[in-house]
Amino acid sequence: MAQAAGSAFRDIPSVDHLLRHSPIAALVDEYGRSAVTDAVRDVLAAARDAVRSGASLHLDIIVADVRDLLAEQARTGLRPVFNLTGTVLHTNLGRAVLAEEAIAAAVASMRDPVALEFDLESGSRGERDDHVRDLICELTGAEDATIVNNNAAAVLLVLNTLAPGREAIVSRGELIEIGGAFRMPEIMARAGARLVEVGTTNRTHAKDYRAALSPETGLVLKVHTSNYRIEGFTAAVSAKDLATIAHENGVPLVNDLGSGTLVDLSRYGLAKEPTVRDAVAEGADLVTFSGDKLLGGPQAGFIVGRRDLIAAVNRNPIKRALRIDKMRLAACEATLKLYRDPDRLAERLPTLRLLARPVAEIEAQAIRLAPVVKQALDGGAEVEVVSCQSQIGSGALPLETLPSAGLSISPPGGGKALDDLSRAFRNLPKPVLGRVDRGSLIFDLRCLVAEADFIHNLASLPRGAPE
Ligand SMILES: *Cc1c(COP(=O)(O)O)cnc(C)c1O
Repeated sequence: MAQAAGSAFRDIPSVDHLLRHSPIAALVDEYGRSAVTDAVRDVLAAARDAVRSGASLHLDIIVADVRDLLAEQARTGLRPVFNLTGTVLHTNLGRAVLAEEAIAAAVASMRDPVALEFDLESGSRGERDDHVRDLICELTGAEDATIVNNNAAAVLLVLNTLAPGREAIVSRGELIEIGGAFRMPEIMARAGARLVEVGTTNRTHAKDYRAALSPETGLVLKVHTSNYRIEGFTAAVSAKDLATIAHENGVPLVNDLGSGTLVDLSRYGLAKEPTVRDAVAEGADLVTFSGDKLLGGPQAGFIVGRRDLIAAVNRNPIKRALRIDKMRLAACEATLKLYRDPDRLAERLPTLRLLARPVAEIEAQAIRLAPVVKQALDGGAEVEVVSCQSQIGSGALPLETLPSAGLSISPPGGGKALDDLSRAFRNLPKPVLGRVDRGSLIFDLRCLVAEADFIHNLASLPRGAPE
């Protein structure tokens, strides 16, 4: 045994020998010498371990392993996927898919130098906000606007500008946590504002705000309870009344809308959400909202409202640390421009197109695809057309679901077979992500646009029933 292993060790080729072996030499042209050398070293180390535990050695397998390792390393980590989870704005999948106009604008801004902070008219320095300020003001009715990295940054910046070392009054019913690490009390503390909670979880009244106002107050904050609803015996003060109360006491009202939409969504068959324009008209001095939720653009945070307050925000040195880059600014501008033509918005803006997609169309797609998927699984699972409910996601309209349709894929035995099936779809060249519900893998087809690509992709599924 020891002797056999000894001779097997002698058969392991050297790194140099392998690099001269023609299939490996061809890989050098593709991936570069140093990456191939590293991969060869890693594969040979693994081969030595395998030989030590008694395995035999094949040159073909070593070459294949090197090729696989290099291909895996070369593949982007930000893999495009099929989002069949049923959540349209999926935060973990990058939220909004951008409009072609926005993609083209972002690409153009990457390829050439751009007049980002340069006024071509006068030849002097310009401001990056200039590219979107007028558009945002036109679409929201606000006096002025600025744009930062995301809405979390917008809230942080506003609090730090208007209430450093001072008090910020918020209802106990609105002390939100947004998935991950955005918790209103913590953001406040980091912004240097002192949180003053008023009311109770379910009921907050005008008198609660009035009692809390003092010379220490820096602002009153209203927060959209994006990802939950308090129902039953509830009371809240409207933004309009809150604006009056804040203004009587000489402090600004800030309304953090979260998702923030620029159009009345009921026009497209969705539930009505207050628009940014509504929030501005109701008297908020500043309104903050996201670029990549219902708005359908890239990650960004907008602050709109009173000119003097926007000027103060822009003077805050933290603004510099939270600014947006040229690529997203270009995509934002192009996205906002689509809103100038509401009649064609649902055609051109993917977020809205997907949210407004007729259920009959999704159902027809499910009926078309059920036999295709069944065949690709080679009888390894039952495939049924089912109706399901999509979610908007990203904390927009949390209780609102959209009737949809999809495929329910049930392997015999459930449990491990279901895990294996889910993994097989995740391991496809373009991973397919669904959700597991009561022993079945559900693909909600609302967001399936590239149907031919989806079908082509299925050819890479392992044949037969998962073991
Ligand atoms: C989503 C949300 C945020 C955070 O916005 P991001 O764009 O994700 O940074 C803040 N406040 C509210 C109310 C939200 O819904």
